[in-house]
Amino acid sequence: MNARDDAGANAAALAAAKAAGFAVGLGDEVLQLKYEVRRFIEAEVEPRSRWIEEHDAIPDDLMQMARDLGLFGLTIPEEYGGIGLDLAGKCAIEEELGRSNYGFSTVIANHTGISSKGIVDLGNDAQKQRYLPRMATGEWVGCFALTEPQAGSDPAAMRTTAVKQGERWILNGEKIYITNATIADVFTVMAVTDKSKGAKGISAFIVERGFPGLSVGPNERKMGMHGCCTAPVILQDCEVPAANLLGPEGMGYVQALKTLTAGRVTVAARCCGIMDRLIERTVDYLKTREQGGHKLADYQGLQWMLADMALARDASRLLTQRAIDTIRSGARGTIEASMAKLHATEAAGKVADTAIQLHGGIGYMRDFGIETVARDVRITRIYEGTSEIQRSLIARELLKD
Ligand SMILES: Cc1cc2nc3c(=O)[nH]c(=O)nc-3n(C[C@H](O)[C@H](O)[C@H](O)COP(=O)(O)OP(=O)(O)OC[C@H]3O[C@@H](n4cnc5c(N)ncnc54)[C@H](O)[C@@H]3O)c2cc1C
Repeated sequence: MNARDDAGANAAALAAAKAAGFAVGLGDEVLQLKYEVRRFIEAEVEPRSRWIEEHDAIPDDLMQMARDLGLFGLTIPEEYGGIGLDLAGKCAIEEELGRSNYGFSTVIANHTGISSKGIVDLGNDAQKQRYLPRMATGEWVGCFALTEPQAGSDPAAMRTTAVKQGERWILNGEKIYITNATIADVFTVMAVTDKSKGAKGISAFIVERGFPGLSVGPNERKMGMHGCCTAPVILQDCEVPAANLLGPEGMGYVQALKTLTAGRVTVAARCCGIMDRLIERTVDYLKTREQGGHKLADYQGLQWMLADMALARDASRLLTQRAIDTIRSGARGTIEASMAKLHATEAAGKVADTAIQLHGGIGYMRDFGIETVARDVRITRIYEGTSEIQRSLIARELLKD
């Protein structure tokens, strides 16, 4: 039986979630799922976090448990077999995912975010029918391929081309650093269809792993985010049926920007969960560790460091909520999303560093797990738009006539 089908357990989960003071304003269903994900993370993911870290892989049975819990279908509409969470719901779950292994949470976050959102938002009926039900169950994993060797912060400079030949598009080019590529079945690929139109000449395509001419390169060895694969995607005369053009021709980049704006808010939400866990662990340690005849918690200098951690986390959460509310209201939310991502990712880096400091030597030890978080969160300042790009986006909006 699926964990989400047990009425008694669901009622208990809901009551516990409310008692734990989980975020105000979320519907009962989201609260209940949030609580179930918390239990799953604590009982199943956290105990295997060290294994994931050391092996740079996720155990198959853990992936299956995530499928059974419905995690792969978080944002896919119910009519296609998903849970159909909106941005607020997704962020509520991202916070829980942030509490444990970053690689594991990234597999889910990427699949349910940038890798399926394009199909949800732009796909036609036939595309939705073919891809979304399988993506909702996690039978098919998605990835999102935008970045290229010469086009990172400026993706509009991409060189991958798509040329129409009869009933097919022929794609040529190379994408790099693509999260989930090694395990993906469905690739949302951006390619230039009309060079003369610049950013408005970039289109999106749904490419299946089995299409002739698509290959995935070796998995990158990374500073953190272990367990979640990142690899290049090579398109060599890759044949894509005309029916797999996603959205109108020339809309790929415009859609990618929208997808990335919402994605930034979810990155911020996950950072809030990461900081929650770091602060909880630090509080426990300060209350139990004694030095110089006192608990560490008695030292005012350390209390102030803890207070700054909580301040950084809470400011991030408020900015994240503002971004959610802005986008929910129908506005683009560019400034709000960029500010939330910028602040939360930088705060998470600082909070992780302070957590190591407050733990002293043990904070530096691999088996203790805090140094892992410090390495993992570093990526959040780079992907889905670097911190510098977020600042530029904010300034550009402010300077607009
Ligand atoms: C682990 C990982 C996973 C990733 N996953 C994906 C994925 O799934 N799909 C995908 O498409 N991409 C993915 N990426 C790519 C990621 O989005 C890019 O790495 C990121 O956008 C930065 O591009 P770049 O690496 O080319 O750096 P560059 O753009 O070369 O930037 C280098 C430095 O210059 C700064 N800079 C660049 N341009 C400007 C500017 N105009 N103004 C001010 N500063 C600037 C940057 O902020 C940075 O500090 C991933 C990357 C990593 C590392």
